[in-house]
Amino acid sequence: MFRTPIKHCRNCGTAVVYRIPDDGDTKERAVCPACATIHYENPLVVVGTVPVLDERVLLCKRNIEPRWGKWTLPAGFMELGESTAQGAARETDEEAGAAYEMGGLFSVMSVVRVGQVHMFYRAQLLHDRFAPGHETIEARLFTEDEIPWDEIAFRTVGETLRRFFADRKAGAFQVHHLDIV
Ligand code: ZN
Repeated sequence: MFRTPIKHCRNCGTAVVYRIPDDGDTKERAVCPACATIHYENPLVVVGTVPVLDERVLLCKRNIEPRWGKWTLPAGFMELGESTAQGAARETDEEAGAAYEMGGLFSVMSVVRVGQVHMFYRAQLLHDRFAPGHETIEARLFTEDEIPWDEIAFRTVGETLRRFFADRKAGAFQVHHLDIV
């Protein structure tokens, strides 16, 4: 189970039962015994950016759980009604208060164990003044040598940063697909 199990039907409020629906399905779902609604649960999308100014990358120190006090790229759950790039831009605004121009897609990672897909876009910072929101203790620029590798909040952030610096050395940015199992 990736998330808190569904307890009550979203349609009528009756307590649900986890079972394989009778329609040829192969997975257990939360099924409502009263109105027969089947609740499908699918992976969530996390979107963010790799904001760059010259040789340095912007990281945010998390003021929220999980991984309070650890460093991350600006990222968060995609919202309904926005594209992946719009979500990545919104999270960069909310967490870092940075001025930037969005760049291309850089990494797409399936985090199978937690049922998430993480996507990062490159972003070009316009200056080094930040106004971090309440989810961020501090927003700071790091050179590759300064990155606190042991204090990175999430594996997808570390994987993205390593590939970013490697591509920059190679002189060309690729789009990276990675399955984290
Ligand atoms: Zn129901």
